[in-house]
Amino acid sequence: MQYHSTRNKNDLFSPSEAVLQGLAPDGGLFVPQELPEIDFAAWIGSDYQTIAKRIFKIFFSDLSDQVIAEIVSTAYGENFDDPRIVPVHRINKQTGFLELWHGPTLAFKDLALQFLPHLMQAAKKQLDFQQDILILTATSGDTGKAAMEGFADVEHFKVIVFYPHNGVSSFQKRQMLCREYDNVRAIALQGDFDDCQRGVKQLFSDQKFAAEVATCGYALSSANSINIGRLIPQTIYYINSYLQAVAANDLSYGETISIIVPTGNFGNILAACYAKTMGLPLGRIHLAANENNVLSDFLQTGIYDSNRTLVKTSSPSMDILVASNLERYLYLKNPDSEWLKSLMQELNVSGKFQIDTELLDLTASWTDENETSTAINHVYNTYDYLIDPHTAVGYSAIAKAGLTDLTLVASTASPYKFIEKTLAALGKEIPTDDWQSIEVIAALSGQEIPQTVSKLWQLPQDQEILISADQMSKAVFDNI
Ligand SMILES: *Cc1c(COP(=O)(O)O)cnc(C)c1O
Repeated sequence: MQYHSTRNKNDLFSPSEAVLQGLAPDGGLFVPQELPEIDFAAWIGSDYQTIAKRIFKIFFSDLSDQVIAEIVSTAYGENFDDPRIVPVHRINKQTGFLELWHGPTLAFKDLALQFLPHLMQAAKKQLDFQQDILILTATSGDTGKAAMEGFADVEHFKVIVFYPHNGVSSFQKRQMLCREYDNVRAIALQGDFDDCQRGVKQLFSDQKFAAEVATCGYALSSANSINIGRLIPQTIYYINSYLQAVAANDLSYGETISIIVPTGNFGNILAACYAKTMGLPLGRIHLAANENNVLSDFLQTGIYDSNRTLVKTSSPSMDILVASNLERYLYLKNPDSEWLKSLMQELNVSGKFQIDTELLDLTASWTDENETSTAINHVYNTYDYLIDPHTAVGYSAIAKAGLTDLTLVASTASPYKFIEKTLAALGKEIPTDDWQSIEVIAALSGQEIPQTVSKLWQLPQDQEILISADQMSKAVFDNI
């Protein structure tokens, strides 16, 4: 497989080059040259790791089978607290939750970020790339810790994460400030996630900054979902859960399953689109937004307008107005680089653009804070199952979408990460002590406290570093 930029089809890159560079040189995003048609029926009965190996062999074709096998067994093993890696929790005949939070940081980002560091290391070897790599990453809360955990103690890699100072939950902040290794570090930015993402993008396009980083011995890369190495692993759980459902006789191969994805930066839902394009029998793919409904407006009207005020919600990982991966979706629907370049130019200048809705094949809806609480409450009291606010946004979308086939809601985070909203929705008092809150969640869920949670309370916490957007480059040099 070869890759090229969404904005230029002519320059081709190997998988290792695309993964190490992160962003294409022209500012576009790397996309695979083709999405091959796959006969998934032949994969029925395979486990998660086997499916992962097959997918990675296609998309990271410059790595040997042995290297891929090693990476897969490290990425999807004991580091997940369920041997199925992504189990599906069915609440009734029509609905299930795709539990994407069994990894070490309790959110779906682990599915890609337990894998990406090893992929990058292999890519570095493959290309005989000598410099160390500095990963700069913007986070709305979950990517940050997942990147820190994935790259922790990985030789020749350093990670600096920027998170919005008041934009993450107290649990997420604790996760990022408690670390076991020195090669990873989180820094708070005065601003919201879009400011973090914009700042990191600016650093990436700043030649002088790159040159200075190089004199310190580092090349720059990214662990955000702009990296194709983040996106490909996310196709696996859609494939796996479909095939598991067939193996369990819930449906026969070819009958569809619909997917609802609580969406922020458009990575997770794009992976579902890729899987469907390759031939996985998915029905509708429905985008669930919170009050920052820029994407649901876009899918309904064809008008993408980021000129609005970012609302702080209880699903902060979706508090995003400029969704980077939308560019890859637009490319998938209309692979015309010139057209895309002009749209992105317009977005840059005016914060908006418009396209023909005929091109769009996803449905969408959005959910407000009250409905989010209602969903948490309803699912708990009806099905005895505890969901986090992001998952609740996804659940609320079922009724709005009017789906009738078997529907899987991507459950993107564990309720431990968003205790305040979860307890408030259930009308429970929120203990002032963080650990007591953890115990309340454990009691409500009827499950033991995950080891990864208790570990956090045993680690020392860093002092928070708080900077303004114009201090990002200085903060990088202070920390390398
Ligand atoms: C990152 C994240 C999302 C949004 O996913 P995208 O791929 O950015 O659309 C949703 N929920 C949770 C819990 C997340 O961490």
